[in-house]
Amino acid sequence: MRTSKSRGKIAHRRSFYTGESFRWLMDHARLRGDARLPAATGDQAWLESEIFRRITNSGWWLAHPLGIASVQIERDNSLTIHLDGCFRAVDTAYPFSLHVVHELLPHLGVDGEFWGVPGLRVNTVNGRDLVVSLVDSPAKVTLCSVPAAELQGIPRNRWKHQIADLETMLNHDGLPHFWNSPTRTAAERDFAVQAPLTSACRRELAWLGSALLRRAALLHTASTAYNTKNLLKGDTWHIEFFTRHGVPVDHDRLLKRLCDPALGLPIRVIDSSCACNLSKEHGTLCTFNLAGEGTERPALRLAFSHHRYGDEELRMKLADVGASENWLDRVLPKQPAPQPEAA
Ligand SMILES: [Zn+2]
Repeated sequence: MRTSKSRGKIAHRRSFYTGESFRWLMDHARLRGDARLPAATGDQAWLESEIFRRITNSGWWLAHPLGIASVQIERDNSLTIHLDGCFRAVDTAYPFSLHVVHELLPHLGVDGEFWGVPGLRVNTVNGRDLVVSLVDSPAKVTLCSVPAAELQGIPRNRWKHQIADLETMLNHDGLPHFWNSPTRTAAERDFAVQAPLTSACRRELAWLGSALLRRAALLHTASTAYNTKNLLKGDTWHIEFFTRHGVPVDHDRLLKRLCDPALGLPIRVIDSSCACNLSKEHGTLCTFNLAGEGTERPALRLAFSHHRYGDEELRMKLADVGASENWLDRVLPKQPAPQPEAA
């Protein structure tokens, strides 16, 4: 019989990857002996991967890497994503849920371009939770919006209002939306037909997008980057990390966690280029290509950019959107005040 001590050890390790609370894991999670993180398959993996791809490609200033504070793997193996409350673009902060609604809900844009995740449906809206599903599928993801009310001048996240606002805007422009349709619409079917390569790549790499999303907290707990960008380009996921001058890049720590045989991904480094030993006077770039089991084709590319800039203003921007002081002290430590010149 598994003791509470060993269950506690597994819970502690898993929370490092997902951000799930220790208490929740001990009370609700199936903490298996091999400590593996439950994987999503089929439609569930595809839905998670599409959500990950669309909501994390902004490059804005956010309290957590990619705007995801933590995830929670439910007992039915569906996923709850705890989102940041807001993001900052240029000098203004907005609710992050506003971005999520526009990126996920399927509709046509003014140029006729398909927008959102084909087949995604709004299941329920319940206070802070937006539950989305797929047509003709049991796949389910809950997007939980962290209130941003305590952040001055930023309106509260209100899924219902933001969805209604998008609907009003589309109706005004005479553009169709599909997130309430009971069946898959012609526009959604056409998207897969008109962009077969794109659709096929996204299906093929869904296991990886979902697996990365389920380990989103690693980007916060095992990385020293103050900014992280994510992009699915062709048939490769690209994640770029930006580290400030004077802060160790420490990519080996993240890679070790990511490739951990128990909690990590079934991937390995196939080639790399490390510039850490070069002069720190200038920016450096280290890159790693990783491939899945039984293949030499890179599915994931990690790039670590080490920059000289990263001033106090940057720290303030992140603090303004709710970044914790502990994290900021790690990724953007305060610079010592300049000493006054001797008279
Ligand atoms: Zn390096």
